[in-house]
Amino acid sequence: MNAEELRECMVGMGEPGWRGRQLAEALYRQRIVDVEGITTLPKALRQKLAKEGWQVGRPRIAQVFTSVDGTERYLVQGQTPDGLTVEAVWMPEGDGGEAGDGFEDGSKYAEAGPLRQTQGRLSAAPATRASLGRDRATICISSQMGCAVNCQFCLTAKLGLQRNLTAGEIAGQVVAVLDRHGVEVGKDRVNLVFMGMGEPFLNYDNFMAAVRLLVEEVGLSPQRMTVSTSGIVPGIERFAEEPPEVRPKLAISLNAPNDAIRSEVMPINRKWPIESVVDAVRAVRLRSRERITFEYVLLGGVTDQPEHAAELARLVRRTGLSAKVNLIAWNPGPGIAYTTPRSEAVETFRRTLAAEGVPVYLRRPRGRDIYAACGQLKRTVEG
Ligand code: SF4
Repeated sequence: MNAEELRECMVGMGEPGWRGRQLAEALYRQRIVDVEGITTLPKALRQKLAKEGWQVGRPRIAQVFTSVDGTERYLVQGQTPDGLTVEAVWMPEGDGGEAGDGFEDGSKYAEAGPLRQTQGRLSAAPATRASLGRDRATICISSQMGCAVNCQFCLTAKLGLQRNLTAGEIAGQVVAVLDRHGVEVGKDRVNLVFMGMGEPFLNYDNFMAAVRLLVEEVGLSPQRMTVSTSGIVPGIERFAEEPPEVRPKLAISLNAPNDAIRSEVMPINRKWPIESVVDAVRAVRLRSRERITFEYVLLGGVTDQPEHAAELARLVRRTGLSAKVNLIAWNPGPGIAYTTPRSEAVETFRRTLAAEGVPVYLRRPRGRDIYAACGQLKRTVEG
């Protein structure tokens, strides 16, 4: 419930409307987890709320997997009878995904060094500047249980869509993670990415309701939030209408330099080809210094060749958008037939884009060993 809904709830119980504001303050700012603890309300009202069956709380972190790089992956369980879990990820130092997007936090990121091949696995060279503490932490959250989009490189796709998350379940993941790490909103600044399980723009109303809760009630900045879409054109069109005070930044999960390859890798492209996605993105009024991000997963031999980089550079320039490219070396997953690109191919790709004048950043793989990295979220319980 947002503050207005809480107000209506209070009025419905014969209380003054401003009690709703007190409740919102207690639930979202003070993050109190039980009715009895809301001491700004009179005891009699707390007892009445409890007697009428009102509950406050948040999703429970049911399981934690910790990576050697400090990343934590969570199975988060809601309070609904189906007991289904979704995944959220905490990256204490982010993954470089914010770099170069025009806001203050992005400028603080040092670009990660080139990927290195060690014992058959890719690992990123450390960032060249010292850790900037909490300013770099990033929380990645889910918007749906499973996903219907069927990107061929993604483990979540294997689940299919199980159901949409409610606004409370989406925002609740964030608050559960903030609590776990003792984050003080307003003092510690964390980044938020809607890039976990699901396609946020296929659960648009709940996704945006969650954003409004997080911005207006919890107090997080929309300029530190990024939503990634596989290119759901009607969703992008609605997003373009959102006021800048609550609109997160936008990332398009592009992953291919042309429609032919993209339709293979992301069948959704047959419905909304690249040009239609770009047209919809053009309607988004960017804030000053803001950039659109094109996410690009490099699949060994499929999308990582020098000619793909050159074609991608032409595509990005042709859009005329203030944009940057985030490269992600594909993270392996069981039952998916792609291969991780060679580190030299990643570096050549990056250099080619840079030489063509396209701002390009390499996202550092985080939590691969615990299936927490991009495209790996499938409620895998080993790891
Ligand atoms: S990459 Fe995102 S949109 Fe595509 S299947 Fe995976 S979760 Fe869904």
